[in-house]
Amino acid sequence: MQTAVSTSSLDVLNRVFGYSAFRGEQEAIINQVISGQDALVLMPTGGGKSLCYQIPSIVRAGTGIVVSPLIALMHNQVTALKLQGVAVAFLNSSLSFQEVQAVEGQLMRGELDLLYVAPERLCQERTLNLLHQIDVALFAIDEAHCVSQWGHDFRPEYIQLSILHEQFPQVPRIALTATADESTRKEISLRLDLGAADLFISSFDRPNIRYRVQQKNNARAQLLQFINSEHPQDAGIVYCLSRKKVDETAAWLAEQGIKALPYHAGLSANVRQLHQERFLREDEIVIVATVAFGMGIDKPDVRYVAHMDLPKSIEAYYQETGRAGRDGLPADAWMVYGLQDVIMLRQMLSSSEAIEEVKRLEQRKLEAMLGFCEIISCRRASLLGYFGEQPEPRCGNCDNCLEPVESWEGTTEAQKALSCVFRTGQRFGVNYLIDVLRGKLTPRIEQFRHNEVSTFAIGQELTEVQWRSVFRQLMARGLLAVDMDGYGSLKLTEDSRPILRGEETVHFRKDIVRAKKAPRRKKTSTVYSSYSDHSEEKKIWEALRTKRTELAQEQGVPAYIIFHDATLMEMVEHHPVSLHELSQISGVGASKLEKYGDEFLEVLMAME
Ligand code: ADP
Ligand code: ZN
Repeated sequence: MQTAVSTSSLDVLNRVFGYSAFRGEQEAIINQVISGQDALVLMPTGGGKSLCYQIPSIVRAGTGIVVSPLIALMHNQVTALKLQGVAVAFLNSSLSFQEVQAVEGQLMRGELDLLYVAPERLCQERTLNLLHQIDVALFAIDEAHCVSQWGHDFRPEYIQLSILHEQFPQVPRIALTATADESTRKEISLRLDLGAADLFISSFDRPNIRYRVQQKNNARAQLLQFINSEHPQDAGIVYCLSRKKVDETAAWLAEQGIKALPYHAGLSANVRQLHQERFLREDEIVIVATVAFGMGIDKPDVRYVAHMDLPKSIEAYYQETGRAGRDGLPADAWMVYGLQDVIMLRQMLSSSEAIEEVKRLEQRKLEAMLGFCEIISCRRASLLGYFGEQPEPRCGNCDNCLEPVESWEGTTEAQKALSCVFRTGQRFGVNYLIDVLRGKLTPRIEQFRHNEVSTFAIGQELTEVQWRSVFRQLMARGLLAVDMDGYGSLKLTEDSRPILRGEETVHFRKDIVRAKKAPRRKKTSTVYSSYSDHSEEKKIWEALRTKRTELAQEQGVPAYIIFHDATLMEMVEHHPVSLHELSQISGVGASKLEKYGDEFLEVLMAME
């Protein structure tokens, strides 16, 4: 399409992408790049990073070169842009020699607005030579945190990208990432030689995501209840810590009639590919996965991310939950957490063979994660505060805001628990200690003659469940440590002393045993799941969705590439009856209007 230089960015936003206004910092970033300056962009997942380089590539003369680390991701973006009428291609190892030649021809003839390139391909002599012969509009470095050697997405090829600045000093560069922490940001700036670039940091808040943490009692049943009652027909991701648990959970959900598929590094590449494709293309797939699943999943309509185990850090948690609701519609981050999680993670840490410094860092991250689980104040405020922001104290869209948690003064109970650990020799796990406190005469207790210690039967005022809650919270706060022995024996810590001596008081969170039914969402955030069963709206919604699936299958692309849920919802709401009215719907650009307008209008007219 190669548009004229005079095209304004707002015009491109309206005409090509079908959106009416820029979001947040988009406009400032786009202007910066169009004017030929460098930019480093930190924006949360779903914030709208892609447009920040796509629009300048279209507006500026020449071709925008986009470096992207994952072939699957590249493929999807290119497919989506083509449907929007943008002249775009990609170069990576999945192409045949003939295909490469064809793309290179287009590039040389100046026919492309955008070219997506794998980093290793870009740094080849051959590619660089080509680029020297054409007009390069800009270099965009997507997922720029891949240059960070300390991050888990490190890609050695990314380090070489510093040559772009050396070889093309006059071409503006824009580096983008959703990784928020300071050290990664500095590393990007240093390695890509972006010290002089303007920094654009957006708030990392994801207001459409509702954060909830439930006490684990029967994790699977809780998960099923959550899915069935809140997301029966939605796409979701369920994270588990181990491969074995992934397999078991996926199989169990499937038995319960949920379309669940496993994903982890132990499965063959073919199976992984197949499951990922189905997740992207079909509407209702639930992926049960280890952390191996994630980067490059840009499916916009993932309605929830569920954690069956505790993530290792807040950074990991935030990144994983951030995969929900990229389209801005309401989504859930839901987690179950319990005593066993604390014991297991504490054990993993103490038996870790990492060097002291790394261990201490891991330890701190885990403490922050545990703190997040146990807080009784706003979860979002705690998350954003962790990333250095100063948020409102109450968000109104997390469990603690929606259903305030009570606390209780438990100094005496804490003392009983701690002295029981001491009196029994710091050699026993939670279950045993609770039996001693509650005065249960088990053979083991008799064998060790712990029915004779002073803490035997002094804790009958609390139930077993309540004691487990006390022990969990003591551990989460570092008032009890888990021994390295692998049996989960508990030991006192330095911090336990002031409590035993009565110098400090302790307050505990009152666990909500059974969460009340999730409050209904506000009308302003209508989701299709709130259309009532036999309503007109629901019928139209389903007819539109069927049409979308039909087109997607015909063309072999993910359904969301045709139109996002948000776009279909607007169609339900405004019920356009002409091409002109349809073109006013957000997400309907000129090219899609031409390709799909008639077919969707037909569906809408038939429903009148
Ligand atoms: P990121 O790469 O930051 O995770 P994307 O670029 O994929 O985010 O954008 C997230 C979603 O928001 C996409 O579905 C995109 O089409 C949509 N979007 C981006 N900018 C706008 C805008 N100005 N108006 C409406 N929707 C937008
Ligand atoms: Zn809140």
